[in-house]
Amino acid sequence: MATIDGLPPLREVIEAHDLVAKKQLGQNFLLDLNLTAKIARLAGDLSACDVLEVGPGPGGLTRGLLAEGARRVLAVEKDPRCMAPLAEISAAYPGKLDVINGDALEVDVRSHLTAPIRIVANLPYNVGTELLIRWLTPKIWPPFWDSLTLMFQKEVAERIVAKPRTEHYGRLALLAQWRAEPKIVLHLPPEAFTPAPKVHSAVVHFTRLRQPRYPADEGVLSRLTAMAFNQRRKMLRSSLKAMGPDIEDRLNAAGIPPTARAEEISLEGFCALAREVAK
Ligand code: SAM
Repeated sequence: MATIDGLPPLREVIEAHDLVAKKQLGQNFLLDLNLTAKIARLAGDLSACDVLEVGPGPGGLTRGLLAEGARRVLAVEKDPRCMAPLAEISAAYPGKLDVINGDALEVDVRSHLTAPIRIVANLPYNVGTELLIRWLTPKIWPPFWDSLTLMFQKEVAERIVAKPRTEHYGRLALLAQWRAEPKIVLHLPPEAFTPAPKVHSAVVHFTRLRQPRYPADEGVLSRLTAMAFNQRRKMLRSSLKAMGPDIEDRLNAAGIPPTARAEEISLEGFCALAREVAK
């Protein structure tokens, strides 16, 4: 059967390279090239961008990104068994695909990329959340990337876009929405992957904001939200006691009733409180 790029279908690639999925590497592959091209389109216009892809595996999403016209793709993959199939893609798209065999949590990719940069990944879920937090908390803002298009477990995607007074609202929502605009752009059932995971998945697209949505010191905001959500059912005047004896005054000054609970407070409210606490 012909594919979008003339390379063999992914099932054949996996068979030819004996790429039996490894659970410890979170390997759930996307084999439908129409679907991977669709995910690539959700990342926006790639023709003038370098794309960082983390965890390309046998290269389904990589092929989607290249078929959709990415200027260049830098792919970081931990599993050495994937190097041969990725080299075949590289040969079919001369000068467009570079691959680093390494751990995305350790490799310094910045020196290999030219702005503007978009990050696209279908990652194992544990690594995905850790990388997301790193990408959202660089030392200086704006960060090196313009957008992130990332596959998550559906429940994590819901935590990222959650609004106050909802079940999934918490630190991840505040962190993501403070400096970026995250949106769920695609839902995927387990059967979209081989092997199928137990849970549903969703793609979240984040556009970075030039500046955080509301001013606040990142360290103070982070400490406040950690304390507040560690005891999310308690009133803020008691969950935030350790912030100082005058926490009730500071809550009042920020326009927050001291009897309110963490899950009722908007991002704007937490930022106002962080500014009061930092005074
Ligand atoms: N992108 C491919 C796709 O959509 O079919 C593969 C996705 S699979 C969910 C995750 C990939 O990330 C695997 O190929 C796995 O080997 C790789 N991986 C796991 N941990 C990694 C890490 N720390 N750094 C880089 N790649 C990693």
